Amino acid sequence: MNKDFIQELGLSADNDGSSTGQQGMHNPAAHISSASPVDGAEIGRVSVTTPEQYEAIIERATEAFKHWRTVPAPRRGEIVRQYGEALREHKDALGRLVSYEMGKSLQEGWGEVQEMIDICDFAVGLSRQLHGFTMHSERPLHRMYEQYHPLGIVGVISAFNFPVAVWSWNAMIALVCGDVVVWKPSEKAPLCGVACQNIWAKVAAANDLPEGISNLINGDYTVGEWMTKDTRVPLISATGSTRMGKAVAQTVAARLGKSLLELGGNNAIIITPSADMDLVLTGALFGAVGTCGQRCTSTRRLIIHESRYEEVRDKLAKAYGQLKIGDPLDEKNHVGPLIDAQSVETYLKAIEGIKAEGGKMVVDGGRIDGLGSDCYVQPCIAEVEADSKMAQQETFAPILYLMKYRDLDEAIAIQNSVPQGLSSAIMTTNMRESERFLSATGSDCGIANVNIGTSGAEIGGAFGGEKETGGGRESGSDAWKVYMRRQTNTINYSTELPLAQGISFNL
Ligand code: NAD
Repeated sequence: MNKDFIQELGLSADNDGSSTGQQGMHNPAAHISSASPVDGAEIGRVSVTTPEQYEAIIERATEAFKHWRTVPAPRRGEIVRQYGEALREHKDALGRLVSYEMGKSLQEGWGEVQEMIDICDFAVGLSRQLHGFTMHSERPLHRMYEQYHPLGIVGVISAFNFPVAVWSWNAMIALVCGDVVVWKPSEKAPLCGVACQNIWAKVAAANDLPEGISNLINGDYTVGEWMTKDTRVPLISATGSTRMGKAVAQTVAARLGKSLLELGGNNAIIITPSADMDLVLTGALFGAVGTCGQRCTSTRRLIIHESRYEEVRDKLAKAYGQLKIGDPLDEKNHVGPLIDAQSVETYLKAIEGIKAEGGKMVVDGGRIDGLGSDCYVQPCIAEVEADSKMAQQETFAPILYLMKYRDLDEAIAIQNSVPQGLSSAIMTTNMRESERFLSATGSDCGIANVNIGTSGAEIGGAFGGEKETGGGRESGSDAWKVYMRRQTNTINYSTELPLAQGISFNL
């Protein structure tokens, strides 16, 4: 494989995982080795941030914030625009790195970088639209309004499966809002973080920006905990498992900080009697096997009307038979590997659990040997009861559950019966059914689609989910408000000072 992309992104065998800006602080003694799930080879090493380096970074970020918050928002947008241009220049290389380090298909790797570019464009426009409100004061000759100010340091903790896009959804919006960012990428894909930071460093240098506006730290959850406990970091945006989110939420709440949580999903498609079968097959197949079932929005459950059940099951099983599994950088393959051996174990245990509770495998799973690493698995399909315990959990792997329903009330109840609430969809050509699904008595998820699968989302809308998915919203729409502090202002331009509740305070 041609690995020129590694050099193009400024990566080497040993990489500094902490953007301290201080010579000599790079300490490769403790490092993370990033091995590709594609072929098992070590791509490079990234030094783990020390407590001293963390202190230096937070101090520098604190200083940088004092400058950055005074830069006019449209000018901040111009810097983000330049970052978007730099991403366009390196799209091919960064997409290849994402694919090689994380294992998703090359097309999805490029797609992830395109999402970064799109959020840059969105943030540039937003930089001229950080609108507040004005309202009428009840007092004469007074003016009232609300405005939004930058918050400070935004701590971003990200998951392995979107190793570059999730950071950009947070960072680009936070930057135009006037915040500075400290990013701890997943320890399973640390080189992607270093590559993004290297691209940022060039843009920052070309604009004579102080260091400390965008910062990188690296390590496992303990390094993440330094930030969640740190009162100098007013907002923690954390993406990952529900287990992680519960720990982060408690730590941040204990110091009354703000948290934005983007956690696990358990996403379902309801397939109704009137569903268009071409849309069903494309949506379900891509949703279930794309990124080898490692998207927070992956389709995990199909809730199928009994009249269409056998048809959907048989057609899907046939489509699974045609899937090409292998090196994700080879564009003829549809499905790459899981992230690591531990994920393969979790997947195998889940299949055992399905069988133990009486589920029936329609397409059987298992590890596939001889494809380059130990991380390749067979995407599988299981028929289960609607109340299956296994189907209540998010197993981060390509396992698709099929279940039957008789009427729409029952389908919606099954869809909503899981603890997670991220993405959901209905396949129908019946307007009454789609409207019911989108109504207050329909899907309880943060994302509800009609005739589109559950997987992925456009950056223009606010992204996130309810219940154990954490309740956070990021990316488009008015998600920017969480990255700012809100202030209400009242200005008296009269010569009187009327007191509240008619109180007279004559001295
Ligand atoms: P993970 O929870 O194992 O790790 C995510 C990140 O959190 C890592 O950077 C990790 O070091 C850090 N972390 C873990 N425990 C922590 C703690 N106590 N304090 C501070 N930091 C901590 O998740 P993963 O395996 O990398 O990612 C897969 C999970 O992420 C899935 O559940 C998936 O659904 C979810 N995910 C959700 C979204 C979303 O937008 N809702 C997007 C992508 C992934």
